[in-house]
Amino acid sequence: MSSPREQEWASIQILGVRVDCVDFQQTLDIISGWIAQSRTQAGESENAVSHASPFTRQVCTVNPEFIMTVRRHPAFAEALAAADLCTPDGVGVLWAARLAGVRLAERVTGSDGIHFICERAAAQGWRVFFLGAAPGIAERAAAELVRLYPGLPVAGTYAGSPSETDWPQIRQRLTAAHPDLLFVAYGHPRQDIWIHQHSEELPAAVALGVGGAFDFVAGTAHRAPFWLRRLGLEWLYRLARQPWRWRRMAALPLFALLVLLAWVRRRPVNE
Ligand code: UDP
Repeated sequence: MSSPREQEWASIQILGVRVDCVDFQQTLDIISGWIAQSRTQAGESENAVSHASPFTRQVCTVNPEFIMTVRRHPAFAEALAAADLCTPDGVGVLWAARLAGVRLAERVTGSDGIHFICERAAAQGWRVFFLGAAPGIAERAAAELVRLYPGLPVAGTYAGSPSETDWPQIRQRLTAAHPDLLFVAYGHPRQDIWIHQHSEELPAAVALGVGGAFDFVAGTAHRAPFWLRRLGLEWLYRLARQPWRWRRMAALPLFALLVLLAWVRRRPVNE
């Protein structure tokens, strides 16, 4: 069954990629609505005992790297186009939206989102599953989040891999754990394509690709200090800490150039 991709919020296109105009509060409310809906459906269904969702809602956090990856990766483009929610991640996305005349409230990132969601999950009793990252990291991240948000219901943790050979094992674990919400930390574009390709079989109401968020929570990687993030320079900090990222980040100046070109083309000639 395919998801009715009803949209109750505004969205914009940045270089052909949809970005939904939502802040963290709206994102949490949307996720909350999906989980409530899924629980109601499961309760009504005769097959409720299987805890299978009719479909899984997919959340992607779209940053400039995502938008540039889309240009050479049709499967990723397809996953983002089909996603139920594409949040604005990355200062470059906020800047591009501003040029298009849309002021987005804030970056809605996976690294912050995992905290807000777990806080809400602890309050509402959402069962959360942590899938991905290097062996042992998901467990450490879950333990840290339970410490921060006491009562957080951890449905399970597993490193696994996005390779198809791992799918039967992952499906078995998820089916046994029947989470409401699934965090997937395989990095983009793999995590988002993986969720999209399995969205009709995943036994979870909502699945979110969170990149390196488990590493940050577990303390094996460090985020930029708050003041650098406020200045929009988190990308620079990441580049300094993980210089091997330069190849990926080389796409960012091109992103800026393409956004500027699109902006110039849209302006009336006599302006
Ligand atoms: N990862 C994984 N399996 C893979 C590839 C990556 O578990 O086959 C994990 C990796 O350990 C890290 C995360 O995916 O925790 C990628 O983090 P990154 O910050 O690079 O994410 P991105 O910025 O690409 O979204």
